Amino acid sequence: MGDLLYLIIGIAVLSVVAVAGLLASGRRARRLPPGAGTDVLDRGTTATPQAPPVPARPEAPAAPEATPEAPAVPTLERPEGVSSRLVRLRQRLARSQGGLGRGLLALLSRDRLDEDTWESVEDTLLTADIGVGPTQELVDRLRTRMRVEGGSTPDVRTVLREELLSLVDPGLDRRLQVSGEDGKPGVVLVVGVNGAGKTTTVGKIGRILVAQDRRVVMGAADTFRAAAVEQLATWGERVGVEVVRGPEGGDPASVAFEAVRTGAADGADTVLVDTAGRLQNKAGLMDELGKVKRVIEKQAPVTEVLLVLDATTGQNGMIQARVFSEVVDVTGIVLTKLDGSAKGGIVVAVQRELGVPVKLVGLGEGADDLAPFDAEAFVDALLG
Ligand code: GDP
Repeated sequence: MGDLLYLIIGIAVLSVVAVAGLLASGRRARRLPPGAGTDVLDRGTTATPQAPPVPARPEAPAAPEATPEAPAVPTLERPEGVSSRLVRLRQRLARSQGGLGRGLLALLSRDRLDEDTWESVEDTLLTADIGVGPTQELVDRLRTRMRVEGGSTPDVRTVLREELLSLVDPGLDRRLQVSGEDGKPGVVLVVGVNGAGKTTTVGKIGRILVAQDRRVVMGAADTFRAAAVEQLATWGERVGVEVVRGPEGGDPASVAFEAVRTGAADGADTVLVDTAGRLQNKAGLMDELGKVKRVIEKQAPVTEVLLVLDATTGQNGMIQARVFSEVVDVTGIVLTKLDGSAKGGIVVAVQRELGVPVKLVGLGEGADDLAPFDAEAFVDALLG
């Protein structure tokens, strides 16, 4: 009898706790800020009406400054303008790449430029991933100039600056083709292997365009990585850009198609399309990217194909670059993570290899840490 009484009391207590718990969780759910749901920017244009809600992702690498507590009322961010980015990021570039220029300056300023010194110059350039051909070319030109101008104590810094600049090629057209014609949006296709920084770059480019008051739509066509879709949705949310997404594992081409259709219908200036970067084999990649491009072009020409390359990956990155350039007509390169390595020489190597200009450089994980590439600013940063 006593046992039965304890049992009844126990059940009663548990029920009260359970009901209280349910009430509390219900309150929590209702308290979720509108920014954490799909309704904020999906505006019914997603390829999957059943798409899962976009979680607030404080741990998202693309949004390091996000705080765990999402604001109650989501306010749109005003992205940084282009000119102040260059000023701010130049310091960062100088910090990561300055060793190369300073090393070369020190070597070339020696009293005697003997064979050992020239070998060290060569090693310095190769270590910075400039590539064998361009290294040889630069050393030959420097040897000639230092010899010719040697008698009149050449200004080593001026000579080196001029030669590095000609290697980086300031004459290349590095403008992004983000505008379409005949009332159609410009379409920027962003390709590259997973991990290179593709999705982050799409988000960052979106911010640059928003800062320029352009209307942007983004397509999350990397349907094989759920995280990439969520990541892009978060980037879009922060600046009020519509992100078109599809079901996980769905057809990337149909998302790309839907994104461009939406952009055209909404009068967007530019549609940015993220793609999957699975390099399982060249034929598969070619099929996939080829199809994405074909279906997009049923509605509007692709105006820019950006290849995203991780500057820290050296030769591996160059091999990837080659594969992608064989698969799709790359029109510009985005070099990411230049902040994290002293391998800035890859700018020269990849431009030479593909015959395509570096148009943008990623210099950090911050939302506005992407800047247009500027040959002079780059060389000046190298020289410290
Ligand atoms: P994806 O797989 O090519 O789409 O790569 P993600 O966009 O997911 O980026 C992979 C990682 O690289 C993330 O942690 C990014 O924050 C980081 N990342 C991207 N660009 C840069 C950059 O310019 N500098 C640094 N330091 N990290 C970057």
